[in-house]
Formats: sequence, C-alpha cells, structure tokens
Amino acid sequence: MDTQGWQVLDRAHYLHPFTDHASLRQGGARVAVRGEGIYVWDTEGTRIIDGLSGLGNVNIGYGRRELVEAAASQMLELSYCQSFFKTTHRSAVMLAEKLTSMLPDSLNHVFFQSSGSEANETAIRLVRHYWDLAGRPQKRMIIGRELAYHGSTHMAASLSGIPPMHSAGGDIPMPSVTHIKTAYQYRNGFGMDPAEFGVLAASWLEDKILELGPDNVAAFIAEPAQSAGGALCPPETYWPEIQRICRKYDVLLILDEVVMGFGRTGHWFGHRRYGIEPDILQLGKAITSGYLPLSATVISDRIADLLIDKGGEWAHGYTYSGHPTCCAVALENIRILDEEKLVENAGATLAPYFKAKLDSFIDHPLIGDVRSVGLMGGLEIVQDKATREAFPYEAHIGDYCAAEGLKRGLAFRANGDTMSLMPPLVTTIEQFDTIFDIAREALDATAKEFGV
Ligand code: PLP
Repeated sequence: MDTQGWQVLDRAHYLHPFTDHASLRQGGARVAVRGEGIYVWDTEGTRIIDGLSGLGNVNIGYGRRELVEAAASQMLELSYCQSFFKTTHRSAVMLAEKLTSMLPDSLNHVFFQSSGSEANETAIRLVRHYWDLAGRPQKRMIIGRELAYHGSTHMAASLSGIPPMHSAGGDIPMPSVTHIKTAYQYRNGFGMDPAEFGVLAASWLEDKILELGPDNVAAFIAEPAQSAGGALCPPETYWPEIQRICRKYDVLLILDEVVMGFGRTGHWFGHRRYGIEPDILQLGKAITSGYLPLSATVISDRIADLLIDKGGEWAHGYTYSGHPTCCAVALENIRILDEEKLVENAGATLAPYFKAKLDSFIDHPLIGDVRSVGLMGGLEIVQDKATREAFPYEAHIGDYCAAEGLKRGLAFRANGDTMSLMPPLVTTIEQFDTIFDIAREALDATAKEFGV
C-alpha cells in the first residue's frame, strides 16, 4: 500500500493522542516505517532525525537488537505473570533490586505500572492511603505546578498544570488539587538574580501550604525540570528550598522523573542533578528506552513500612504491573546505558556541546530565551525581544517552525512557543551540528514567513 493508502486508513480509524484530527485532512500523517540510531524513515523513504527521542524516551536510540533478544527470550521462558496472588517472578524482582541499588538509601520499594500517568495515579492513591494509616486523614490536598505535565488519566491530568487539559472533559482539576506558579524565570522573575529567583519561586510553595493549612496538605508533585512545559530549568537554589519547605511542613515530595530519569539531565537521575531526596520517585519512558511500556513508582521506607506493617491489602494494581517482558527489557536497557557509559558521556561531552549550540540561538531575531539542562533544551519564540511579547496563540508559530524542521529532516517540537529538543543519548557531535543547522534554517524560514 502506498503512503496515501495508509493515510486514508489512518484518518478513517486511528485516533491519535493530542492531535487536531481535522488538520490531518490536509496531507495526512507522516507514516513512519523504520528506526535506527537517531533516525526514523517514512514510507516515502525520507530520513528524519528524531530530535525528541520519540517522546523523551528513546534514549539509547532505535533498533538495538539486544533489547529485542531480551524480550524474545523472556517471552519464550515466561511470557506473562501476574503478581497479585502471592506469585512473583525473576525479572520484576531483579529490576526492583537494580533500581533501588541506583537510588538514595531511603528509596527501597518499587511498584510497577505501564505508563507515567498510571504511576502518578499510584502515587496519589498511595499518599492518601499513607496519611490515613498515619492517622492524619485530613491531609488531602495535593499541590502541583503551572505548566506541569504528569499524564492524561483523570488524576494525572488534574496534577498537570496545562489549561487546555483542564477545559477538555470538565471536572478537572479535581478539587483536592491546586497549582502554584513555577520556576520559569523568563516569565515569572525576569531580570532577577537567578539565585534569588530560585528562593522566591520556592516560597510560592510555602505560601500555598500556609494558605491551605499544613495539616491539610498531603504532597507536592513536580518534575525536576519541566519538559512539556517548555524546557523550564530551575535555578540551583530552587530545589534545596523546596526540600526544606516540604520537610518543615511534613508534606510528601513526589518527584516525577518520567522524562528526566535515565540520563536526560546528563546524570542518571534528575534528583542527583538537583540534590533532592524525594519520598516518592516516578520513573517511566527511558526505563526501557521506549521499547516496551513500563513505569516504576519508587517508595521510601517511611511510606512502605507503614503500608506493609499496617496497611493490610492495598486494593490497587494493574494486570500489567511488573510485566516480565517489560522488566527484562528494562534490565537490558539499563545494562546498555551503563556499559556504554551513555549517561556519563551525555553529561561530560554531549551536554556542554548541546548547551553551547543552543545558547548561540539567543542572537536569532525570533528567540527571546534559551534554556537547557543535560540533553533537554528549549528555544522560546517571541514577537518582540524587548518586551518579551509572545505571538498570538492563533498564529501557531511554534507548530509552523516544527513543520519547517520536519520538511528539512528534523523532528523537534513546539511546547507552546518553545521549540524543544531532547535528542537521544547516542547522538554524535556531527549529528548535533546537523540538528542545529536544520533548527536554524527552520527558524529563519519561520521568521521570513512571519515578517520578522
Ligand atoms: N510525567 C511526565 C513528567 C511526563 O512528561 C509524562 C509524559 O510525557 C508523563 C508523566 C505521562 O507519562 P505517560 O505518557 O507514559 O502516561
């Protein structure tokens, strides 16, 4: 079947996530057929550089045979195993042990799911259960941040701070969830000393806890740095203050590392990069480099001890919690990241180059701000660099720029008006040069179209 044939079938039957389906009537979706390394090919034979690592998950790149073999041998040995009824299996046990050996001493217990959204559902149910068991059932409120993304299920969408997610479908955010402003210096603290801004941004959490009453606040949830929010990277003073405030008011800290875990920050985990010790740590996406769906909720001893000793049966779980094949693939993925020193190389060699290249875009007439941590970066498009005024939403300038990139063979993404890049950890310096050449051409073409 040719490309058009696939597009017709696609339009007729396949509903895509986060997509304006009417827009697919013009031209249809690109039909991807193959991936290798940092490249994906479509039915027309066009090669695209995946500057987004899929959705921030394909950290070791496409087409690694070792992962296929790990999956195949696990499937042949034990294709599925439930662990509800006093049954366990080796790959989930090994992965739980492996993860906890890589994390702070207090994080010793792992619950598995298939997605980041489900992980965040688990975390909130767990937090509520914990405070009930601890005899403080009034601790119900969850504080999240504006522009956060924590997933698309009902609670995860509530935790997210993205307004269109709240208007679609109604009833969210749930009344027990509230949001504070985030550490977005360009919009929330422009011109301030970054260290002072970090302390100020953290104080918004304290203000909210005091407004709600500390006895009513169960947890604070945040990403170490925000990816979907538009590459929002906090100043160094932010996280130590947040940690101090959470401890002061006995508010549990849920750190959502679904994107940042497994090397994205140039460290194995975002909490290492920013020096945080959360009560609950969320991992997903690159835990398998996107080869199979898996997420992990890692729980501190403080919570787990109460759950295990006093909790009885906790009525929560999924058919695919700890799926043997997903766990086997995760173990192999972690082995590759480790043995090939991909995280160390990303931090020591690739990230400084990536940052220098990104920073050079501050001279571009469309770019008002440049932000990055590790191999996650963003270029914020503005209409007026002096006033920081954005283009009108209806202009969809970011989407225009992304389309210009794709035409030239680069997949990058508009998060609002911020052009985001999250390349695989196996990208070479030469490939970075190509990525940034194309990004510049796409921005130039966009500037021309918008008369800048
Ligand atoms: N948390 C963060 C920080 C994310 O970026 C995402 C997805 O992009 C999620 C949670 C949700 O993960 P999933 O799409 O696997 O449900």
